[in-house]
Amino acid sequence: MVIVLAPGADEAVIEEIKQIVGEAGGEAFISKGVSRTIIGVVGNAGVLEALEARDLTQHAGVHEVLRVTTPYKLVSKENHAQTSTVMVGDVPIGPATVTLIAGPCAVETPEQTLASAKLAVTAGATILRGGAYKPRTSPYAFQGLGVAGLKILQEVGQEVGMPIVTEVIDAADVDVVAQHADMLQIGTRNMQNFSLLRAAGAAGKPVLLKRGLTSTYDEWFMAAEYIAQRGNLNIVLCERGIRTFEPSVRNTLDVSAVPMVHGLTHLPVIVDPSHAAGRRDLVLPLARAGLGAGADGLIVDVHSSPEQALCDGPQALFGDSLTELSQVMATFPALLGRAQPQR
Ligand code: PEP
Ligand code: MN
Repeated sequence: MVIVLAPGADEAVIEEIKQIVGEAGGEAFISKGVSRTIIGVVGNAGVLEALEARDLTQHAGVHEVLRVTTPYKLVSKENHAQTSTVMVGDVPIGPATVTLIAGPCAVETPEQTLASAKLAVTAGATILRGGAYKPRTSPYAFQGLGVAGLKILQEVGQEVGMPIVTEVIDAADVDVVAQHADMLQIGTRNMQNFSLLRAAGAAGKPVLLKRGLTSTYDEWFMAAEYIAQRGNLNIVLCERGIRTFEPSVRNTLDVSAVPMVHGLTHLPVIVDPSHAAGRRDLVLPLARAGLGAGADGLIVDVHSSPEQALCDGPQALFGDSLTELSQVMATFPALLGRAQPQR
């Protein structure tokens, strides 16, 4: 059961509802989005019946009460027909815009990060990406600069005037990442790291949740539900390719994921053509496909000197491919009836 509060409902209303739910033997989880608060109720059939008998729709401050049939309740479209808009700093990700997040795969040096951020700006990006904690397949590969990398990314973000998103791979690092970043990224390999999801949900920052390499839609949405259940509805999903039998691309971008997310959840969804392809020549075609399918934005790797990149150089855009991305950003939003966020 989901209890949607009326706009402007205050803490007193939340406390009253929590008490009623507790009296009925249930547990209440409060989730606050940009424009509304919803209370997810967990309990057995008896609890839900007891609450229905009390008819909470008559309670001052309650907008509606919904019996949600999907296993993911807080992120389901059943309780919120409109796609939500998530604010990252002052940049929206939602149905009205096409938001470009761009930057280097990894933060390597202040110079490389700043040069790459400037390229991101020229491509039309309004949010800067960059990894300080890298989830590498090999323990011998560059693991990221950690806190030093967070500081570099934050400083560069301020210099170029963009909020920043960066990955957190360990629940123990959530607080320090949240201190520096405007948005926390949960990577594909951690999509079902439930303690990390809970910690990220409680951190008070929007979360970018990438789809697991081999995850179904339901598993992905349930992972988002973990974040929402910790009180945070500011979640953006990211389709970044799934593992298939085809070896010539690193992963296979599942374009169907975009309309499926929009059909089943109220969360915005963006596409990562860079990590899907693993190769530069496919990034633009996949970006166009994602936007054509209705994605609310893109996250793209760019690098000022990809041949020297410590991570994912072969997929990073620069030069002509970057110019092409800027052309996509200049033309696609209008074609799709969306605005490009202004810097
Ligand atoms: C990344 O965005 O840097 C990254 C590691 O992505 P993914 O988790 O999708 O592989
Ligand atoms: Mn990468």
